Amino acid sequence: MKEEYDVIVVGGGIAGAAAAVAASKKGAKTLLLEKTCYVGGLATGGLINIFLPLCDGNGHQVTFGITEEMLRRSMKYGPGKVPPDWKEKKNAAEEERLRCVFSPAAMILALEEFLLENKVEIRYDTLVTSIRKDECIIRSVTVENSDGRSEIAGRAFVDASGSAVLAKMAGEDVSFGKNVLSYWALEYEGSRQYGRDRMVPEINMLTGGTAERTFCGVNAKDVTDYLLETRTMIRRFYREQAAAGTDRFHRWPLFIASMPQFRKIAAMKGRCGISDGMNNRTFADSIGLVSDWRKSGPVWEIPFGTLEAVRTDNLFAAGRCISSTGDAWEITRCIPCSGLTGEAAGYAAALFREDRRESLVGSVQHAMTENGNILHWEEALRR
Ligand SMILES: Cc1cc2nc3c(=O)[nH]c(=O)nc-3n(C[C@H](O)[C@H](O)[C@H](O)COP(=O)(O)OP(=O)(O)OC[C@H]3O[C@@H](n4cnc5c(N)ncnc54)[C@H](O)[C@@H]3O)c2cc1C
Repeated sequence: MKEEYDVIVVGGGIAGAAAAVAASKKGAKTLLLEKTCYVGGLATGGLINIFLPLCDGNGHQVTFGITEEMLRRSMKYGPGKVPPDWKEKKNAAEEERLRCVFSPAAMILALEEFLLENKVEIRYDTLVTSIRKDECIIRSVTVENSDGRSEIAGRAFVDASGSAVLAKMAGEDVSFGKNVLSYWALEYEGSRQYGRDRMVPEINMLTGGTAERTFCGVNAKDVTDYLLETRTMIRRFYREQAAAGTDRFHRWPLFIASMPQFRKIAAMKGRCGISDGMNNRTFADSIGLVSDWRKSGPVWEIPFGTLEAVRTDNLFAAGRCISSTGDAWEITRCIPCSGLTGEAAGYAAALFREDRRESLVGSVQHAMTENGNILHWEEALRR
């Protein structure tokens, strides 16, 4: 017999984990499908371990709910800390704000625990390959894993794939990205002092790259070339270190990413989009707030329309595949907004009813505020 769930979340990155927890909190029987063998996506397997600020840099917290809970949990099994005086700071530098650097492995343990505590069913090592859709409703996904190929039915779906996989399958329009070559790798370096992007003095994030070539990340050859080139650069770095006299017992690569570090692969074009200059603008359908990690001050309301598919009623995007471009995309592609949009997409999927699509936004906003989120920027700044 075909399996059936209320909500199926595709992709177990930050957005997918937030969506699955949110859906389950609302009582939905929730399945999280993840092609790798860990949760966290880019934030863990991709070694992107800076949880960017949840405050505006002037002492106002703007992002709350499941996202804040994830930030706190990310430090449960490993080092990392939130600056204790972030509330007193004005025009604060990024590292003085409500943010933390976490251990990717500790984050996997904590996120997985968060999902299990909330009764989310996780299925690892499971690739979503296609969907079955009747007019504007997705009925099921087809997956491939060690059991072979099977079909799983769902009532509503969240695309948290980081690359709009489900949206593309559903016939939604998507926009594609251009990616410069960049790598983040963890290294042991016995000689250094505690620094800005460091969990403990000896473990350092080695970053590098080049803008000389761009990659799209949408075909296997391009992905492979990207991975091979980043690893060539890392080998070259350590050869140069050796030539300069660093001994390999004091400086060595500890871990390299297990997924390509593309910033944008593909994003769904939703019912509405946000772009340049739309910060500190009020949207009636806002589901919550995110700050600008690059500078203190700007706050962005995220409209529900950026998560909503145009041709598919029961599909919601979350994380780096929501509908945003330009300057807004620099904000929405990051961990805080992935958590926020994941939470909203999870509630939307859990609350979705085919015959009551129009009233959904109000129910999602209610669920967001009930869990501590603030919808409008002026309210956050008044606190
Ligand atoms: C170089 C670089 C530096 C960055 N720096 C920062 C930073 O300092 N701080 C910050 O906050 N953000 C940063 N970001 C952005 C941030 O890390 C990510 O955009 C964010 O983590 C995305 O989360 P997500 O859940 O939307 O997607 P992802 O993390 O991509 O998760 C998607 C998940 O879906 C799974 N999946 C995909 N397709 C399928 C399928 N068909 N079937 C099943 N599973 C599937 C993937 O395996 C993955 O686990 C950076 C990104 C890059 C590339």
